[in-house]
Amino acid sequence: MLVFLIATSLALQSVADTSPFRALPLPAPGRIRSASGAPGPDYWQQRVDYVIRATLDTSSQTIRGSERIHYVNHSPDTLAFLWVQIEQNLFAPNSITYALSQPPLHFAGGAVFDFTGKGFTGGITIERFMAGGQALKRTEYGTMTRVELPRPLPPRGVIDCDVAWHFPIPPYGGGRMGRIGTRLYEIGQWYPRLVVYDDVHGWNPLPYIGAGEFYLEYGDFDVTLTLPAGFLVAATGTVANPLAMWTAEQRARLTRARVSVEPVQIVTKAEATAHGAQRFPGTKTWHLTARQVRDVAWAASPDFRWDASSWHGVLIQTFYRPSATPWEEANRMAWFTIKHFSETWGMYPWPQATTVEGLVEGMEYPMLTFVPSIDKREDQYWVLTHEFGHEWFPMIVGSDERRYPWMDEGFNTFIDYGSAEGYFKGTAYGDTVRRELLGAARISAVPGNEQPLIDKPVEQRDLAWAAYQKPALMLTVLRDAVLGKETFERALREYVRRWKFKHPQPADFFRTIADVSGRDLDWFWRDWVYTTARLDQAVDSLGSAGDTTLVYLSNRGQMVLPLTLELKFADGATESRGYPIEMWNLGSRFTARVATPRRVVGVVVDPKGIYPDIDRANNRWPR
Ligand SMILES: [Zn+2]
Repeated sequence: MLVFLIATSLALQSVADTSPFRALPLPAPGRIRSASGAPGPDYWQQRVDYVIRATLDTSSQTIRGSERIHYVNHSPDTLAFLWVQIEQNLFAPNSITYALSQPPLHFAGGAVFDFTGKGFTGGITIERFMAGGQALKRTEYGTMTRVELPRPLPPRGVIDCDVAWHFPIPPYGGGRMGRIGTRLYEIGQWYPRLVVYDDVHGWNPLPYIGAGEFYLEYGDFDVTLTLPAGFLVAATGTVANPLAMWTAEQRARLTRARVSVEPVQIVTKAEATAHGAQRFPGTKTWHLTARQVRDVAWAASPDFRWDASSWHGVLIQTFYRPSATPWEEANRMAWFTIKHFSETWGMYPWPQATTVEGLVEGMEYPMLTFVPSIDKREDQYWVLTHEFGHEWFPMIVGSDERRYPWMDEGFNTFIDYGSAEGYFKGTAYGDTVRRELLGAARISAVPGNEQPLIDKPVEQRDLAWAAYQKPALMLTVLRDAVLGKETFERALREYVRRWKFKHPQPADFFRTIADVSGRDLDWFWRDWVYTTARLDQAVDSLGSAGDTTLVYLSNRGQMVLPLTLELKFADGATESRGYPIEMWNLGSRFTARVATPRRVVGVVVDPKGIYPDIDRANNRWPR
């Protein structure tokens, strides 16, 4: 009997290995990451607080800074060294990005992301890296540096590092940051910051190449920026010295804006133009504080117009140059965006949300986004809402974009469609914009070229599809065809709530959606995330048995999804029937039995055309 038992189990094994319903090989849950998808009772993450003092020198186009890094080891491990990101080395002459000199990435709508500095060579110089008054031994590996600790840092140990550095500011900085002459500075990826140490990979020193923007720890920031006296600042955080930085008039207008849903002009066009023409000798030092954020960025210019409004205590600010059009509407767009995302996915957690118009094609930091001026109103809204959508993914939900851009760009792109549909509700654009995802599927889901979502961003040949559009289509299909809107939204909201200010892994996301919806969705994630499976549902023929019409259906591709059938009757009436995913449990053919005395004269599979079905010709009978 033993032999027989072994043979049986082998047979079962081989059936299970080819079934689309076999379990995903996820890491086992435990006390750190629980089986429900929530952080477990022993969940931990590191904490890093920064005090940064930086000075912008516009004559030498240099930023000089010093910082105190306060690092708390919440891990159960003793750390012999730290890894620190020095991302300005993207622009060092010998960087991976410069050595490879890959062509820019083109996105639909004409946006181009060039991850290089367009020939600019720079890089950061670390002048000092000390702890306890002692210089630490350090080794640089491009955009990362490993810092040897004077003595191992035990669990619950704390270390304060004292770092000094400077770098030349690139005119164009890899699509993330840059400057326009001496008139506008948009500064991100700029100060040495800790690499994430987590329970899954330990240290995460994946190099910064351009794609895969970041994976960062949470903490509090205290930042002072010394800038030319005539500059206005927009930044992550709150200005702690407003009396010294803003005029009485600006402060009075800001007080009005704090209770206004309509934009209040803090700096008008005439004021910005007049101010920009004046000279202001000397410098001013801005003091900014931010709590519970994973990064800090800022922008500064003597030319800014400044509008502000409020929603639920969140100050919503837009800074733009007098030449920027159509930025008068940007504050309303930002207001609608913050309200929409807060009401749908979870409350915006910080005191202010700011967007700055400038040269960067679109970039996100906590409380601060960089967005260009775009002629077409719909495209302007899209980029603005997309960058603010990143406040939810990855600024609130702190996932790892160096590995999983689909959980960052992708989840964000999905929620952006809801935002655009809301802002443009009732217009042709608003009512159809999401359908462009199916068009993208036709262009990009090409056998042999397409790669699974799970591949790293730097390994993706078609990042626009794999990181942005395909995950947005995936979640749209999950919502509309598998879970229904209410269950889907409850599940995604719960994912945001559970992983707010934490570091989820893909398994935590899959398990949370399964936990909240009560549905085993391994089959869904397998097809969409781990493979390039394509969908081809078909009706093969019709038959009858007495009063029952038999609809012979087949699943001709590798992807499985539930099926919707539209029946057309001889009297001209139509009726839709939905078949759950279990229809494919026994294989790729299914006979739908329609018990009706009425004569069925035709059927259509996926009648609303919501699926990326690769052959729609076989979706109807008669053909
Ligand atoms: Zn993005």
